[in-house]
Amino acid sequence: MAITTKDLQHLFALIAGDIAAQRDHLCELDGAIGDGDHGLAMDAGCEAAAKAVGGLDPAQAAPTAVFNAAAKAFLNAVGASSGPLYATAFMRAGAAVKDKPELSDDDFVRAFAVMAQGIQERGKAEPGEKTMVDTWKPAADAALKVRASGSALAECFDMADRAARQGCEATRDLLAAKGRASRLGDRVIGHIDPGAASAAIIIASIAKFARH
Ligand code: ADP
Ligand code: MG
Ligand code: MG
Repeated sequence: MAITTKDLQHLFALIAGDIAAQRDHLCELDGAIGDGDHGLAMDAGCEAAAKAVGGLDPAQAAPTAVFNAAAKAFLNAVGASSGPLYATAFMRAGAAVKDKPELSDDDFVRAFAVMAQGIQERGKAEPGEKTMVDTWKPAADAALKVRASGSALAECFDMADRAARQGCEATRDLLAAKGRASRLGDRVIGHIDPGAASAAIIIASIAKFARH
């Protein structure tokens, strides 16, 4: 079934709610290996994105405008490193669905995959460097693979969700090569990366959305 601007407004609201519910937990994770603001940053960014997106008129705004509004709002609301990373992700998604009045399942999976790629390119992080890329990349790979085998959207994002959780959990045993945590050496071992954790929450929200 086609995904409309209205559906995407619902998705951004869903993400904002799920991130808000985990705000303090994300700050605690960041407190252990960063500066403790990750929950506040993601909450502010997702809230601002949902508000900007929710203010669009679905009769006027195509999906590309939704992602572009989200990118701008997220960037303006967030001073932390997650700001430009998610702004880039949303911009890339907007570009990937340019000129589409609504999104097919393939369009939506492609938009998801280019978000992951955008984060990776903007942050210049490879998988295994204890960042949000460790959640996003395996999730995007899983969604693309399951979609290529002809499965429905719900199944694509079920598998993406599973891969995201595994990728996130695996950051516990990694040294950090990017961001603040990279200055802490082996003191980060035993701690999940906060950006990987918030990414897993977002991807779980998308999986919930894809099941509806
Ligand atoms: P800050 O460190 O500026 O306070 P946040 O707390 O919002 O920013 O985000 C920290 C998260 O950002 C980290 O847990 C990590 O997942 C992610 N991150 C940091 N640097 C990079 C990078 N170069 N590439 C990808 N992700 C990164
Ligand atoms: Mg931080
Ligand atoms: Mg900070």
